[in-house]
Amino acid sequence: MTITIARSSNNEKQTYNTQLEGVTLLTVLNHIKTKIDPTLTYSHSCRSGVCGSCAVVVNGTEVLACEYKPLDGDVVEPMRNMSVIRDLVVDACDVSKFNATAHTWSEGSVSQNVSAHDMESIERQSDCILCSSCMSACPVYAINPDFIGPFALTRTWRYVSDAREEKCGDKIAAVQVNGIWDCTLCGECVPVCPQNIAPAQDIRMLRTKSGVMGYIDPSMANMFAGGLDFGSPAF
Ligand code: SF4
Ligand code: SF4
Repeated sequence: MTITIARSSNNEKQTYNTQLEGVTLLTVLNHIKTKIDPTLTYSHSCRSGVCGSCAVVVNGTEVLACEYKPLDGDVVEPMRNMSVIRDLVVDACDVSKFNATAHTWSEGSVSQNVSAHDMESIERQSDCILCSSCMSACPVYAINPDFIGPFALTRTWRYVSDAREEKCGDKIAAVQVNGIWDCTLCGECVPVCPQNIAPAQDIRMLRTKSGVMGYIDPSMANMFAGGLDFGSPAF
């Protein structure tokens, strides 16, 4: 199998010939590093799809190297929208900054039983492994580095829809600027998530909840800033 990898030292792509088939991309990268080219640099840790540190882009789509089985001719590049440190290693998006902005934790809870059904509806969002694949795929984050982004917004929805959470209002307020209204709902963040989380859907829910709480889409507010004009009588 041949595999082509973006190298940062000369900003060119380098093709490697390996005899490996049916193995994960991480195994291929380890093989290249130990047997062919020790200068190749990439990140990994758990090797089992849990830590999220081995996310890369293959043929234009984000994958975890420890889970993806490469095909002959694949092109491997570093994650998008993040600065490259070396080869496939990027300076991942500032997780703590976005989580802090979006209040992605419990800020006080009331004692209340949560039904199994309700618990099921927020379990998926809790599975995020912070791989940043959704940020890599997001066209809004590509042009606005302050956009709170898919993984933090999906976590906000997880707490806002938790019946035990006391400070839902604060969380909704926290995602109004550079948040839910800046998202285009394009859905690019959904298929790249290795945990099958659908941030676009959660952002849509946050918009609905915001509307119920009296917030409006700023673009709509601007549109009607001068008041509604129903035209003049014809006579
Ligand atoms: S749906 Fe929103 S958060 Fe997801 S990729 Fe598109 S703009 Fe980004
Ligand atoms: S939401 Fe999915 S793609 Fe985004 S950081 Fe979490 S696990 Fe990764």
